[in-house]
Amino acid sequence: MKKLTLVLPILLAGALSAAPAHAAPLKVVATTQDLESLAKEVGGDKIQTDSLAKGYQDPHQVEPKPSFILKLHSADLLIVVGRELEIGWLPPLINQARNTQIQPGADRYLDASNFAHILEIPTGQITRAMGDVHPQGIPHYWLSPENGRRIAQGIQKKLSEISPADAGYFAQRYADFDKRLADSEKKWAAAMAPYKGAKIVTYHRSWPNFVETYGLNVVGYVEPKPGIPPSPSHTYELTQEMKKDNVKIIIIEPYFDSKTPNAIGRDSGAQVLVMPPSVGGTKEVTDYFKLFDYDINLLVEAIKKTGAK
Ligand SMILES: [Zn+2]
Repeated sequence: MKKLTLVLPILLAGALSAAPAHAAPLKVVATTQDLESLAKEVGGDKIQTDSLAKGYQDPHQVEPKPSFILKLHSADLLIVVGRELEIGWLPPLINQARNTQIQPGADRYLDASNFAHILEIPTGQITRAMGDVHPQGIPHYWLSPENGRRIAQGIQKKLSEISPADAGYFAQRYADFDKRLADSEKKWAAAMAPYKGAKIVTYHRSWPNFVETYGLNVVGYVEPKPGIPPSPSHTYELTQEMKKDNVKIIIIEPYFDSKTPNAIGRDSGAQVLVMPPSVGGTKEVTDYFKLFDYDINLLVEAIKKTGAK
């Protein structure tokens, strides 16, 4: 409360005074809390951030709300995950927002995937007939710290373009983030190093970037295809495979139904681990650093407990 009473009069004073437009914080709207967290790292108090999807929601399927349109209407910058992650819900909202500067292709529409290392980009003809929701490669690419760094740098460049007077500030914030991230990467890599090659099964194909970074071995997925719910035949085959390969861990994102993973866990003797792939996925995960802190700790404890290899 204390903070609010201090900040509010300042905000009001700012709004009422005839200050030049660039003095007000830029309104940055990100589609996810991961991108919002990275924007905050770079933008500091020169930006005001918001996110549409919350980390505990399936980012492929977000229920649109009228409040999203209002946020988009007044946004100075929209940051999206891209790679069709938001295709099921974002385009109509952007249309209705009546904000020409954040339309796809416009200056204030920033597709973060342009900066990231994207895995599993399909070659040949791309068809959605099989229900694959990853037609342009893995859109869950923020789950490698190196991609977090690249995205933050992309945001830094964009913010500096919009607000050149603050370019030095953004550069300094990015440099500080980069350093803290490098320190954390060492810590995370050391924690995961003993478990290289550990076999896991994941519900959705959310983790390829994480898996690549830490050298895990994904034996299979609970979904037969990304976006397709588990079927009895696929579940049976996966369970047999897991028994054969002695897989001890099934990772499930918090927003999926745990019924099938639990059944597979009972049949195969594997532990079901609810692991958030996003900032906001659980209450402890309040920023991009805490996302890796939390997930790596959870996974390491589970591997130790189950003796997974
Ligand atoms: Zn996905």
